[in-house]
Amino acid sequence: MALITNAIKGTQDALPNEIYKTQYVENAMRETAENFGFREMRTPVFEHTELFQRGVGETTDVVQKEMYTFLDKGGRSITLRPEGTAGAVRAFLEHGLFNEALPQKIYYLTSCYRYEKPQAGRLREFHQFGIECFGAGEPSADAETISLANEIFNYLGIEGLSLEINSIGCPECRKEYHKALREYFAKYENELCDTCKGRLERNPMRILDCKSPVCSEIAENAPVVLDYLCGECKAHFDGVKKYLDAMNIGYTVNPQIVRGLDYYTRTVFEFVSNEIGAQGTVCGGGRYDGLIGEMGGNPLPACGFGMGIERLLLLMDKKNSQFPEPRKTDLYIVSLGESASLVASSLAKSLREEGFCVQFDTMGRGFKAQMKYANKIGASYALVLGDNELETGNVKLKNMTNGKELEMTLDSFSDDFQSAVIKDVTADFESLGIELDEETLSALTGGNE
Ligand code: ATP
Ligand code: MG
Repeated sequence: MALITNAIKGTQDALPNEIYKTQYVENAMRETAENFGFREMRTPVFEHTELFQRGVGETTDVVQKEMYTFLDKGGRSITLRPEGTAGAVRAFLEHGLFNEALPQKIYYLTSCYRYEKPQAGRLREFHQFGIECFGAGEPSADAETISLANEIFNYLGIEGLSLEINSIGCPECRKEYHKALREYFAKYENELCDTCKGRLERNPMRILDCKSPVCSEIAENAPVVLDYLCGECKAHFDGVKKYLDAMNIGYTVNPQIVRGLDYYTRTVFEFVSNEIGAQGTVCGGGRYDGLIGEMGGNPLPACGFGMGIERLLLLMDKKNSQFPEPRKTDLYIVSLGESASLVASSLAKSLREEGFCVQFDTMGRGFKAQMKYANKIGASYALVLGDNELETGNVKLKNMTNGKELEMTLDSFSDDFQSAVIKDVTADFESLGIELDEETLSALTGGNE
């Protein structure tokens, strides 16, 4: 039984009481991306396994040990997306978006699946906000990418993240660098972890990214990629820094940051927090000028990032970040008997058209239980409708915050209700010494004309 009432390890439910936080964060991401001219793209949750093998890279942890891969009933090898870039590149190529105005700037909010050891900030199903900028090779594109992530953190009021940037050069300058790394790490071959022993030949740069304490200690004194950049890569990196300076975005150059794939080029960056433990990277990205070509398209430069939504929320909870209050019920109609319930239903309908959140009883409860429910859900007002009210047409609107009652008629209830809300909201703000203009008032009082 436990199997069907327990979520799978490493997955998380987003419950109605908490969802407003996720929605707020997602809105911040959408709005910011759209301010930068990015548009949303949605791709399937599963793709051919080969896509990720090629798009994420055979030597990565993701492909080597973290993918959810299975055979479907037709015997095809299918993989649940572990990240967003590969699918986005596939769609970009499949639909010929390279023929449209370049750069193509896309964003996505997606679930990702990785078979990892679940712990704080590390899940098997998690969510990413990501952007890709296809076609732009100038340093300004890298800077825009970084700036977009930075703006999201500003929007959410998250302070204290450190932006770490690095350049890993192009395949040309990396040849020399790989040689230097191999020479350096060969001296410590016996001490390296088994995974890194394998990396020594194939992709020595990934050793720099190893999380084992022994390997990271050895890596501390390894040759630094920045010393091996060719003239063009160096100029590109200087360009990125110039744009970041122009936008007043603070950063540290950290030569330890790598993305050990052949098609990642030049700029790599991370936004790191030291407040949420070992899983402190909330956003990682960079340039991958070789990927589109590697996946069969005409080579085009590109850059982007992925941001972990759960990690961001974890950080915001740690920081006691402020979230706007979730939407509340404006009016709960307490209705007694079938006739009253029918009136409640049509009243609810017309008030919702005015933009109010309205609820009424759908459980056949009595007066007390309905009032109790209205209280529990935090309804701002309650209206009681019984035989008496239907007969006389006179009703009372109760302000649930201060208990005051206002007399109204059923005929003009819609208008009267709106006036009452406006009066109360204005008074509330006046008591705080704030005078509201009409636009704010109408936004606060549900009116949507
Ligand atoms: P890490 O070094 O933490 O494993 P990564 O390099 O594998 O991260 P990316 O592939 O760059 O991560 O993914 C981008 C972002 O997605 C990360 O910076 C992080 O915020 C988030 N993320 C990655 N893996 C997970 C996971 N298993 N659970 C929750 N969030 C994750
Ligand atoms: Mg990882």
